[in-house]
Amino acid sequence: MIIAIDGPAASGKGTLARRLAKHFQYAYLDTGSLYRGVALVLLNKGIDPHDMGAAAQASMHVDLSIVDDPALRSEGTGNAASIVAAMPIVRSNLLEFQRKFSISPPGGEQGAILDGRDIGTVVCPDAPIKLFVTASVEERAKRRFSEMKGRDETVIFEQILADVRARDERDTNRALAPLLPAEDAHLLDTTLLDIDAVFLRAVKIVEDTLLTD
Ligand code: C5P
Repeated sequence: MIIAIDGPAASGKGTLARRLAKHFQYAYLDTGSLYRGVALVLLNKGIDPHDMGAAAQASMHVDLSIVDDPALRSEGTGNAASIVAAMPIVRSNLLEFQRKFSISPPGGEQGAILDGRDIGTVVCPDAPIKLFVTASVEERAKRRFSEMKGRDETVIFEQILADVRARDERDTNRALAPLLPAEDAHLLDTTLLDIDAVFLRAVKIVEDTLLTD
């Protein structure tokens, strides 16, 4: 079983993916962390994320140990990730790792859940279950704002809103693998739903699909 979950920044797709993975005991890959990882390697070396040669180099090997670095989750790293993610060479370097994970999940689990921007359209176009999780840009900025305040970071709401808008714009308008729902994706708008309600809807979709297979 492969569950492909896509959606814009701060839509709640990561939280949903983690809960579904725990519930169904499937392996989980946050593909955004791969792009963030490439961006962070550049930022740590003081290299401009627009430097395609350096980004290509950094994306040759996937280093999952970077996932534990708190800097990976910062807004700055997210923005730099969306710059390197628009580069075809970076996307193709990271594609094989994601496909392998989906086909043979580590730990021998019976299924894999991947979340990102192009999982249902490019990475796993044949996934039997595709979810597209979204919410209004204001709601997503509010969630990101509270999350960062919770970590005691100094944040300005208008700045977060502008960052989320800029990232949406870059992810949606890039030429390769833009953010967009697959034709056969189930749309989950979380603007007015809490995580429990979203989770229950998603579980129902997965169970219905498992029953009909
Ligand atoms: O999901 P997350 O916010 O961690 O992703 C960071 C950035 O990585 C996104 O803004 C997007 O540009 C890029 N990304 C992507 N394709 C994916 C996952 C993430 O382009 N499958």
